[in-house]
Amino acid sequence: MILILKENTGLPEREHLIKRLEFMGFKAVPSDSEGQLAVAIVSGIDRKTKTELFHSLPSVEKVIKLNQQMKLAGREIKKERTIINIKGEGIGGDDLVIMAGPCAVESRESTFEIAEAVASAGASVLRGGAFKPRTSPYDFQGLGEEGVKYLAEAAEKYGLLTISEVMDVEQVDIVVDYVDILQIGARNMQNFSLLKAVGKINKPVMLKRGFSATYKDFLMAAEYILSEGNPNVVLCERGVRTFENYTRNMLDITAVPVLKQLSHLPVVVDPSHGTGIRSLVIPMAMAAVAAGADGLMVEVHTNPDKALLDAKQTIDIEMFKLMVKSVIAIKNMTLSDSL
Ligand code: PEP
Ligand code: MN
Repeated sequence: MILILKENTGLPEREHLIKRLEFMGFKAVPSDSEGQLAVAIVSGIDRKTKTELFHSLPSVEKVIKLNQQMKLAGREIKKERTIINIKGEGIGGDDLVIMAGPCAVESRESTFEIAEAVASAGASVLRGGAFKPRTSPYDFQGLGEEGVKYLAEAAEKYGLLTISEVMDVEQVDIVVDYVDILQIGARNMQNFSLLKAVGKINKPVMLKRGFSATYKDFLMAAEYILSEGNPNVVLCERGVRTFENYTRNMLDITAVPVLKQLSHLPVVVDPSHGTGIRSLVIPMAMAAVAAGADGLMVEVHTNPDKALLDAKQTIDIEMFKLMVKSVIAIKNMTLSDSL
């Protein structure tokens, strides 16, 4: 159920309405629909609940019953695209957002070196894992809090935003203080308690597609975050597992237009984990942008062969510069086509 609020309703009145709904036994989160403030009731509704009950509440103009399961991620109510603004940078708007950096934060020195290089080559977000999801428990697990600290310091110096992964609920409180965007990795796409935890924070979350997740699984995972009240979710296609094992994953470019048709959330593509092969990163980044991606996440290192993790898919600064040039040219072409 979505309650569309009267045009002159302010944010404090919406907050008040949400509290009142909670008191009545419903769970409600803020939403908006075509420029108008709204409230989405995400639980507490049963077959006996009548829409008339909500009509009598202050500020309510219209009550709409939602048919689809994707109440908040879908486009039934929110037809306009979500643009997430972080310190003046918009994700999901006209500008392509480029997130770049090492697979893992390795040291303070290398993080600063990479940050400087990617910033001057056109990145706006510095990536780097400090809590790493590794297949083997004996492999390097990341620098932890020290790692996100280096990431934040380097980003600050070179005017970048930051993104880093959280793998469990306890890490959310640590990482949220350092980074601008929290990343949920493919392996945790359906870690529902983690999704609920990042749904309660007030920073954007980038959710990566699980390697065997359907579009619906993916969007319903996003729904978990949205239904806790965090509206700022970015979807990231990073490839799925198929019978093909030449590439690390099968990067699903079709996901870009499909997700954008089904949802208003921004869609980013990761051609690094999507292919696992350095020479495929630029072509797949170009394909992603041609398909309408709002941004890219790529693994970049000043010395890729020496990268501690994912060296084979990590590109150097020269390749990164070439990628940025190529994808911007494509973005400009697709923009002028849609005019
Ligand atoms: C990553 O981006 O650091 C990562 C581990 O990717 P994924 O979760 O897509 O495997
Ligand atoms: Mn990696």
